[in-house]
Amino acid sequence: MNLSQLFQRSVQMYPDCTAVACGEQVRRTYRQLHQRVGALAHWFRQDLGLQPGDRLLIVLKNCPEYIEILLAAWRAELCVVPVNSKLHPNEIAEMAEDAGARKCLSHGSLAAALRDHPAIRAQLDVIDTGEGDYLKALASPQLPVGGSCDENALAWLFFTSGTTGRSKGVMITHANMVNVALNFLSDMQPVSQGDAIVHVAPLSHGSGIYSIPYWIKGGTQVLPESGGFDEVELFSLLDTHQRASLFAAPTMVQRMVRHASENNVRPSGLRALLVGGAPFYIEDIKAAVQCFGPKIAQVYGQGESPMTISRISAEQLGAAVNAGDSELLGSVGFAMTSVQISIADGDGRPVTAGELGEVIVRGPVVMAGYWNNPQATASTIVDGALRTGDIGLIDERGLLHLRDRSKDVIISGGTNIYPREVEEVLLKHPGVAEVSVVGAPDPEWGESVVAFIVRRPNAAVEDADLDAHCLSAIARFKRPKRYIYVSDLPKNGIGKVLKRELQKRIGKSA
Ligand code: AMP
Repeated sequence: MNLSQLFQRSVQMYPDCTAVACGEQVRRTYRQLHQRVGALAHWFRQDLGLQPGDRLLIVLKNCPEYIEILLAAWRAELCVVPVNSKLHPNEIAEMAEDAGARKCLSHGSLAAALRDHPAIRAQLDVIDTGEGDYLKALASPQLPVGGSCDENALAWLFFTSGTTGRSKGVMITHANMVNVALNFLSDMQPVSQGDAIVHVAPLSHGSGIYSIPYWIKGGTQVLPESGGFDEVELFSLLDTHQRASLFAAPTMVQRMVRHASENNVRPSGLRALLVGGAPFYIEDIKAAVQCFGPKIAQVYGQGESPMTISRISAEQLGAAVNAGDSELLGSVGFAMTSVQISIADGDGRPVTAGELGEVIVRGPVVMAGYWNNPQATASTIVDGALRTGDIGLIDERGLLHLRDRSKDVIISGGTNIYPREVEEVLLKHPGVAEVSVVGAPDPEWGESVVAFIVRRPNAAVEDADLDAHCLSAIARFKRPKRYIYVSDLPKNGIGKVLKRELQKRIGKSA
């Protein structure tokens, strides 16, 4: 089964249901979406000259066209390369070159900036979805349904966020994506006709992946007119669309909680917040559940096993907040249905139950490998299992606890310190709004712990307060040797803190 065949099935099952909505204006049924998809697929193949297996770059903010472009590319047997639209053209040029893409769909000022970039211009034909060609393409004949059914064909080339170095292209097949969608439906939430998913996080990442189970089940994709995350717009959409869920990074959830509390509003249509992509701290989980009720689920995944390794359902998380079950709240939950998780030592051997090691993942959701990079593939997929690079343990209840990415662990005086543990403690201080802990080179200890702190408005928190607070909760050697106060933390387009950026700043702020 491939994604195009599955969409065909949805068109047959839900022809008159709303497939796509944008604000109050655009609403397309599955039947209408199907027409547009067939025409675009024909245009890709006949007019743009793309062949099965070719990579199609997509550099767009979230918009209704995004959904039809993904589906049309699959109908035309292409592999999509959705790229974060907030990246610099230099970074996009690198990805386009690596992917060997020749065509790119973009829009407005984004398209203009790409066309202005010499390296992109030399390699890519950038097509603006707001211009005549795209609009004319929608009147093309239909590409016949029923191309190759090869489920091992590439569906999505997903460039990793590159927080620790040059981005790599993760090869996701149709079979991977179908399995990701099935795990979503069995473990995150069931979806029925009329249920909505609001895409405020980039469709180039998690939100795009979550679009698939929604169209498989006749749900509605809701695209905000702003093309991204805006609290006022989102809350209004969550009043218009009932039974609406969204994928959000933890930082977006914090902003939603703040908006709800400051304006004393709660959206009537919110069904669930599906949160992941970065550590979701216990204090933030509690605040979200207190604000919105038991509607917060957590997911742990990575590009190499997209959005699908472990999860805590909204019911479980709500019950854990009520019961004060900090073990569950501090974990990333249980393995998803078709995922097998184990923990291994540095040599890949299983550790004793409860011990820390690298999180290893097996299952049909694991990527086919890295594009054009057999060396990285060989060191990441060993004996068919994915080495995630995350450090964690499985406790006696079967809950997976993540510490950090192995590259983020701080080794001070020969002892491992996991930044996340220190961050969780600092976030409990009432004067701390955000925190990120990193290691800095230290002549005596090898590395020392440095905490970047964003204070809450009007909080006069100082080093001595934070020191006393840390000493009341964690071992002395884990306490930061230095606190650096900043107005905000550098984050990438999907809300992950850029720890390398912080490390570069340490020398400068000494
Ligand atoms: P990416 O491949 O860019 O999506 O990054 C994936 C990485 O983000 C994972 O390997 C984890 O280190 C981290 N991550 C994702 N989800 C979670 C989560 N729920 N809690 C903690 N870390 C997470």
